[in-house]
Amino acid sequence: MKAHDGMYIGGEWRPAAGPDAIAVVNPADEQVIGHVPAGTAEDVDAAVRAARAAFPGWAATPPAERAGRIAALRDVLAARKDEIAETVTAELGSPLPLSQAVHAGVPVLVAGSYAELAASYAFEEKLGNSTVLLEPVGVVGAITPWNYPLHQIVAKVAPALAAGCTVVLKPAEDTPLTAQLFAEAVQEAGLPAGVFNLVTGIGAVAGQALAGHEGVDLVSFTGSTAVGRRIGATAGAAVKRVALELGGKSANVILPGADLAKAVNVGVANVMSNSGQTCSAWTRMLVDAERYEEAVALAATAVAKYVPGERIGPVVNAKQQARVRGYIEKGVEEGARLVAGGPEAPRDQGYYVSPTVFADVTPDMTIAQEEIFGPVLSILRYEDVDDALRIANGTVYGLAGAVWGADDEEAVAFARRMDTGQVDINGGRFNPLAPFGGYKQSGVGRELGPHGLSEYLQTKSLQF
Ligand code: NDP
Repeated sequence: MKAHDGMYIGGEWRPAAGPDAIAVVNPADEQVIGHVPAGTAEDVDAAVRAARAAFPGWAATPPAERAGRIAALRDVLAARKDEIAETVTAELGSPLPLSQAVHAGVPVLVAGSYAELAASYAFEEKLGNSTVLLEPVGVVGAITPWNYPLHQIVAKVAPALAAGCTVVLKPAEDTPLTAQLFAEAVQEAGLPAGVFNLVTGIGAVAGQALAGHEGVDLVSFTGSTAVGRRIGATAGAAVKRVALELGGKSANVILPGADLAKAVNVGVANVMSNSGQTCSAWTRMLVDAERYEEAVALAATAVAKYVPGERIGPVVNAKQQARVRGYIEKGVEEGARLVAGGPEAPRDQGYYVSPTVFADVTPDMTIAQEEIFGPVLSILRYEDVDDALRIANGTVYGLAGAVWGADDEEAVAFARRMDTGQVDINGGRFNPLAPFGGYKQSGVGRELGPHGLSEYLQTKSLQF
């Protein structure tokens, strides 16, 4: 795999300040596929200086021109889709069709949406005798995870650029090659030097240096709740803006009148996709007592199609594999009924986890409360609709969810009572403009669409 041995700073690839490197491993066969530099505080400082120097010029660039640059970036991402998909497959292990459709495809959609929004967004509004100016916040420090390596980057960088901000990115250490491809795309699209900068490295060094840097005005983080809390505290101490996209334990609520087979099949696919490494995955399926066993049988049949190494890839690394298998052991220990899968690794090589379904899961169990981030579905039983709501809302998280009812009206009435940021009604389609983000401990702020753009703006009012 192609890998740069420097950092992308100020519009060029520069040597890293320190000698250390990170080995990138293909989780499907555990082979090292490349090395990238492990950035230090010195690299972060150089990148933040470049972003600060570029900020006044980019902020003053007319939105229509910024839109043109983002459209050019979208075009490069679209033209290099195959290369992007192959790179994601190599460093994340996802099956190629998933990498093509989702990992390479969705970022093109999202970048395209911001090319349009940059051109059409109202950066000025009238309020009585005031004119309110919506101005870019400044330099953004973006810290991204490995689960959707390119999407997570584009979901932060595209709105930041549309708003007129400049960016320093610290991507996940497991998936830096996709981030380097993105930097190449930025260069190819002709974005001005310093508008986007990349520092590869590990979270505790480069990530921490970026989150705490005094030249960064806003930190946008996606990842674990533990690290998010820490970043929030660092940002709070320095009074800087922060956006946090954290974990989830989303409920897939199947109401008594719903099409059970469809709801179960879509629900299983939702959890198994990307090996369960999706913060918004519907990892708790809620079914009424009467149709419970039917749903369990349908789920067991549906999950059998996910053959490890074919339709479902490995998880990202050995640590995540051990963590997910630990959760499966915990589920068995706490008395849940194993319907499919189990803690044993299904293949000798690669960080695979057996696609697993648990029945007889009760709301107090660990597997019903904590984010597992692997291919593990918990099926819970509810007595009536109020009980379903109590269970659905009964975790510290509130990122996403689904409701299936006899009709949209019934499902929407239930969704209105859910403490969560996004709900798909009767299989509603992904919308790249819909705000995405969490209630409760799932985070602070929203990504995607106009709501995602507004995160990168601050307001100034002029009175006449
Ligand atoms: P982390 O939260 O550790 O990683 C996310 C990003 O934060 C990475 O770029 C990471 O760098 C960086 N980071 C780590 N520590 C620091 C720090 N002290 N300061 C600044 N940045 C830091 O997630 P993990 O990869 O460890 O995954 C663990 C769990 O987190 C998963 O099982 C899942 O539950 C959750 N998660 C949630 C995601 C989501 O989409 N909401 C995505 C990924 C994970 P580095 O790569 O070097 O560690």
